[in-house]
Amino acid sequence: MSMNEQMNHAEESILHTYNRFPVMFDHGEGCCLYDTEGKKYLDFAAGIAVNALGYHYPGYDDALKSQIDKLTHISNLYYNEPMSEAGEKLIKASGLSKAFFTNSGTEAIEGALKAARKYSYTKYGKEAGRFEIIAMNHSFHGRSMGALSVTGTEHYREPFEPLIGGVKFADFNDLESVKAQITDKTCAIITEVVQGEGGIYPAQKEFLEGLRTLCDEKDIILIFDEIQCGMGRTGYYFAWQSYGVQPDVMTCAKALGCGVPVGAFVLGEKAAAASLVPGDHGTTYGGNPFVCAAVSKVFDIFEQDNILAHVQELTPYLEEKLDALVDKYPIVAARRGKGFMQGLVIEGTTVGSIVTKALANGLLVISAGSDVLRLVPPLVITKEHIDEMIEKLEKSLA
Ligand SMILES: *Cc1c(COP(=O)(O)O)cnc(C)c1O
Repeated sequence: MSMNEQMNHAEESILHTYNRFPVMFDHGEGCCLYDTEGKKYLDFAAGIAVNALGYHYPGYDDALKSQIDKLTHISNLYYNEPMSEAGEKLIKASGLSKAFFTNSGTEAIEGALKAARKYSYTKYGKEAGRFEIIAMNHSFHGRSMGALSVTGTEHYREPFEPLIGGVKFADFNDLESVKAQITDKTCAIITEVVQGEGGIYPAQKEFLEGLRTLCDEKDIILIFDEIQCGMGRTGYYFAWQSYGVQPDVMTCAKALGCGVPVGAFVLGEKAAAASLVPGDHGTTYGGNPFVCAAVSKVFDIFEQDNILAHVQELTPYLEEKLDALVDKYPIVAARRGKGFMQGLVIEGTTVGSIVTKALANGLLVISAGSDVLRLVPPLVITKEHIDEMIEKLEKSLA
């Protein structure tokens, strides 16, 4: 079958919930992907910030293969060693207290919301009705009903309403607008630290500090969604660490397993001590030995190969090269971002048209929001990869 025939074949059976780009990928190597006709693409999308170690990173495949040979799944009714190792490493990297592994980002959000509601219920009782959650406009937290309820994009939510009750929206980076939504029924505030899908908006330090103070004063659970900006993407394990503002609950997923379906919600001591207990939450697959072997190996690789230091070292170079595009091309209006999570604001043409041209030129980039070109490459890219990306992107901008 030609690649075109293969794509048509896929459309016959797969529900059309994506307008996919006209390419079918076959395999990856390093920071590149190859389609079924053998064409090579430099990958600055990384499966939407998932493949932080690129493809076939030394040691990663072997760790997965040897776990497959031992055990891929066991129920959460029993202990398994990869889970305890992955948990230990996640706790150490975050400085938080207890982790619950999920299969996806959206499930991590569900768990975080349940933990927050349960915290208020445990501490203040049912009668207090302390269930309100404040989320941010232009946020993205996932597609399941709870996560959708706190996602700040109207057109994602509307067809599925009524969603869960008690959710209010405030403006990201605007502390006053958050304060205006707080009542004696507020139990949680949820925000990304760098808004991803909404258009690559990093939080301001004063905003996060203000949220922390507000939450401390009113005993509100502060949830940071680190699903996209976490796991090294900003040069820190978790983006909040670069601000020195710690959440009560954190969610992660995407790059946590670097390509296997795994997420987690992680509770600080306060939330862990007074929220979910046996019977409150569960999952069949979540944290099974296979995915946790991947998580555990990912943390080992990050430590051994100084992945965070590499991101910090190369960020100025990436930013300098992107800033040069802002200077050179009128359609590139601005750059925003942190570390290897960068966005170029596009004016006068659609982002989609540039993404399509880049694809033809052998470069994978994606969009964020309506007018932002998003770059979320593997964290292991080199200067040469950045140079090659710029060359291919320039061809697509010209
Ligand atoms: C991708 C993403 C999610 C949802 O994760 P899924 O694994 O797709 O369910 C939630 N929050 C943020 C910030 C994300 O980028």
